[in-house]
Amino acid sequence: MLTLSQISRFYGDTVALDGVDFVVPEDTYMSLLGASGSGKTTLLRLIAGFEEPNHGEISINSKRIDGQAPHLRDIGFVFQNFALFPHLSVAENVAFGLRYRAENPLSNNSEILDRTQEALKLVGLDGFGHRGVGAISGGQRQRVALARTLVCEPRIVLLDEPLGALDANLRARMCDELRAIRERLGVSFLHVTGSETEALTMGDEVAVLANGRITQSDAPDTLFSQPRTAEAARHMNAWNTFDGGLCGDALSNQEIAVRFDQMEVCAPGTAPQDHLSLKAQYLTGEFNGPTALSFFRASDGSLLQIIDHLSQPRLPDLIEGQDYDLHFSSNALRQFHGAA
Ligand code: ADP
Ligand code: MG
Repeated sequence: MLTLSQISRFYGDTVALDGVDFVVPEDTYMSLLGASGSGKTTLLRLIAGFEEPNHGEISINSKRIDGQAPHLRDIGFVFQNFALFPHLSVAENVAFGLRYRAENPLSNNSEILDRTQEALKLVGLDGFGHRGVGAISGGQRQRVALARTLVCEPRIVLLDEPLGALDANLRARMCDELRAIRERLGVSFLHVTGSETEALTMGDEVAVLANGRITQSDAPDTLFSQPRTAEAARHMNAWNTFDGGLCGDALSNQEIAVRFDQMEVCAPGTAPQDHLSLKAQYLTGEFNGPTALSFFRASDGSLLQIIDHLSQPRLPDLIEGQDYDLHFSSNALRQFHGAA
């Protein structure tokens, strides 16, 4: 189990991480979701030991690892851009770590060959060892990067936006493969990404990094349907978050959230009595095939979205620039009492 307690990291005036508490359990695929610049790479670099925190502790199975040299931590790192050696073959890239690592380097060529073959087989690159890394596809380069990390049998594998450089089709395939490879190995993967879809698809558990902290860490379905903070809700890209005061005094000074698919639209003054409602102007719609998004602006300027599924259309014909009432059942409401 990897544990981060109260980890902070500053760069001059920039607070990259501000008291991160975070646990990655054994044998788990953990996704870490955060916007660009939220400190995802910094967090991985601190775990790997490429940098040290200004405050806090990092431990694996209750043993402190912060302060230890990176090569003593047994942590694998798959870099965002793969960082392969362009002049080496696939097999040489994978073998490199075994041959030249600071701790316990291998010199027995047949052992190196065996372990390299095994790692290539694990990632589905059996028979590609002799190729140059310039002569394989992006998805294959991704697998070489993974094999190069796995060959050293790390205790945990950190993956920095590992699918970012791949096109959409390949990304979906690699998602399945990464999960399958991890399950075969039984070591935990910590996969950071800016994509909520990727985080929710991949993770047995998903943590959200916002404002320098982990704001929530939960099973994907729990996080999606029961965000505990406004930040977590916003990161799901499925919730409107807004000032409860828009729906009347009872909710004023609270940030509240309602899912895009749980809001309805009607002419002003015609919302059901037992629903909460707010006034908003219809801005525009966006048709995405099976779903349609409608965008509204509330009186305080907040942008709200409603999603309609083609199979179950709920929205009336809307006229741009007109005012409507947006309404929802109180069961659809999530309240965040002064949460950051
Ligand atoms: P992410 O990976 O989520 O995009 P980073 O961890 O790269 O975010 O960066 C988090 C914040 O820390 C950013 O504001 C970034 O500019 C800053 N930062 C990261 N590394 C350095 C550095 N070496 N020197 C100064 N600022 C840095
Ligand atoms: Mg990054």
